[in-house]
Amino acid sequence: MDSDSDYSDCHSIYSDEEEGLEDYKTGGYHKVSLGDTLQQGRYKIQLKLGWGHFSTVWLAYDTKLKCHVAVKIVKSSRRFTQGAKEEIALLEKIQSTNPTSAGYQHIAQLLDHFEHEGDNGIHVCMVFEVLGESLLSLIKRFKYRGVPAPVVKKVATQVLLGLDYLHRECGIIHTDLKPENVLVYVPNVETVLQERFHIQGDTIINGNQEMEQDITILDQVDTTGLTKNQKKKLKKRIKKKLKRQQQGSPRKDKNGIITSSVLDFTAGDLDVNVYENIIVKIADLGNACWTKDECTHLIQTREYRSPEVILGARWNEKTDLWSFACMIFELLTGEFLFDPRPSSKYSKDDDHIAQMIELMGNNLPTRLTQDSEFSHEFFDRHGNMKHIKKLRYRDLHDVLEETYRDGHQLELLTDFLTPMLQLDDDNRAGAAIIMNHKWLHE
Ligand code: ATP
Ligand code: MG
Repeated sequence: MDSDSDYSDCHSIYSDEEEGLEDYKTGGYHKVSLGDTLQQGRYKIQLKLGWGHFSTVWLAYDTKLKCHVAVKIVKSSRRFTQGAKEEIALLEKIQSTNPTSAGYQHIAQLLDHFEHEGDNGIHVCMVFEVLGESLLSLIKRFKYRGVPAPVVKKVATQVLLGLDYLHRECGIIHTDLKPENVLVYVPNVETVLQERFHIQGDTIINGNQEMEQDITILDQVDTTGLTKNQKKKLKKRIKKKLKRQQQGSPRKDKNGIITSSVLDFTAGDLDVNVYENIIVKIADLGNACWTKDECTHLIQTREYRSPEVILGARWNEKTDLWSFACMIFELLTGEFLFDPRPSSKYSKDDDHIAQMIELMGNNLPTRLTQDSEFSHEFFDRHGNMKHIKKLRYRDLHDVLEETYRDGHQLELLTDFLTPMLQLDDDNRAGAAIIMNHKWLHE
């Protein structure tokens, strides 16, 4: 029994993996120690919240507004600084366009930004409100068996509101919609920080009272089946961990990298009722772009990538709806809708396009099979796939029936997803239309 991780699981969820040491160099991540301050002492860093390929994200106390915030510290090379400046321009547009729009509440809003000079260079820093776990961690929490449909419907409605705001009011395409990039709002951040992390305001409490409480928790750990010696060792390990938490000394991985802590608003409760009031926000506008730009470059994470992107055609905001449909399928079933694999005869992209056609029928327009940048790598002049001859057509309804354990309302759900999975993006439903679909409201 790995009691160490069992204990972590009941106390807070730690992410599986942290950023590598190799990117802590000139042009890379900023070296952060807990207690560091940024922006002339305004922000005091207290915990690590996460990391991405471009940045590390930290919980900080804002000594000016007297509340906690999330600070994203971007790698310092020119490429990342330039990207961060574009991200700020997009976030400022989102923040200023229409705060009264229903979708406004469902995008992680930028609160402040500044530059910070460290040993590895000058880092752009972006300040956001503190959010909790991502939808990916929700999928994991439900053990890849699917998040309950009533919860998914709430999440779907809110993400659609967010997308509609981005697309129609701000003229912005997210381009990397996936479960990892949608975060759960934590309504009572200050209480969660106090109760779970012993953080109150700008201090990390180190009192005996908390220690007493935690020793009670420690007594509740199930030790049946362990020898006396094992029990003793286990208690010692837990005590050590509790002490470390209370003193604010960070948990580190084998490379000495500070481990991320996720604010879990459900306190580990799997009861669907806990999610009755779930609020989610679309995050990570790091790859977003303007609808007015005519783009064909490669976007999106593999499993959520649309046909027009793979084929090198011009894409628009409808590409987000494709990703959205893939994400909803995954939330409901715990499995990817498309999980392409290469073989000796064809590429991963071939398999991906073939899976799309197998699911939605071969009704790609010639704009995609003949006239896009990579059309001829995939299709012959009759519009048939070059490298995969035998297609095994499947119905979305049947695929859902096979994968969706809690498969009620299958017809309605199929009818909800189908318009967003149209291979031809001219025929694909936009967020504003799909928002009214019956499946969301029944
Ligand atoms: P990517 O490699 O995904 O493009 P990135 O460097 O652009 O990453 P983000 O995805 O914005 O960074 O953030 C990295 C991680 O930090 C997120 O996956 C999430 O775990 C955490 N995080 C980001 N913003 C917040 C927030 N406002 N509150 C809490 N945690 C956050
Ligand atoms: Mg991300």
